[in-house]
Amino acid sequence: MTANSPLRVTVWNENRHEQDPDHVCRQIYPEGMHGALAEHLAAQEGIEARIATLDEPEHGLSEAVLAETDVLTWWGHMAHEEVAEEVVDRVQRRVLDGMGLIVLHSAHLSKVFLRLLGTSGILRWRDVGERERLWVIEPGHPIVRGVGECIDLPQTEMYGERFDIPKPEAILFISHFEGGEVFRSGCTWQRGRGRIFYFRPGHETFPIYRNEQVLRVITNAVRWAAPVNPGRDEVRQIS
Ligand code: ZN
Repeated sequence: MTANSPLRVTVWNENRHEQDPDHVCRQIYPEGMHGALAEHLAAQEGIEARIATLDEPEHGLSEAVLAETDVLTWWGHMAHEEVAEEVVDRVQRRVLDGMGLIVLHSAHLSKVFLRLLGTSGILRWRDVGERERLWVIEPGHPIVRGVGECIDLPQTEMYGERFDIPKPEAILFISHFEGGEVFRSGCTWQRGRGRIFYFRPGHETFPIYRNEQVLRVITNAVRWAAPVNPGRDEVRQIS
């Protein structure tokens, strides 16, 4: 990526709820969650978006696709185990070399997230459609630009602490749920040369990826995670 070339985003989704004819996800997202996110991102200035899904060869993430990806977004839920280790290795390598990674919602248990962070990703949850407010606690961070004080979601699945993640470099949102739990809903890390952002919203039975503020955060995050100085460090003997 150079200053004038577009940011190349690959939106990955396991795309399984979307294939179930009786799943409400199909009514909310006829184009799939990946389709909704890619369409939104592609409409933003300077961003190109493509989609990739689990059932494609190599899950749509061949060496060639990843070589042309500046930032990868990842949504998974019911099929984490079906993701091939070879593809996890490849994504990890690309992040260490500088590719950005945006991890969404239930991808807290995805192989790529756990590989890169090294913890269990375990949390507490409850799915009764309760209200969530995500409070912005770092208003000066580029990922929350234009978001305001809080994102108010009338109906979501609850994720509660403790969330087993390594200490984040920045915590941008703390969620409060109607049932009383709290959660670190927007966290950043760096691994190698790559930037990683975990963002909690996105349960498949509510229209979360139709919310303007949620989409703004994801767009900001994609721009923030753009590679700064990509490349591979090699072991070198110095004379
Ligand atoms: Zn969920």
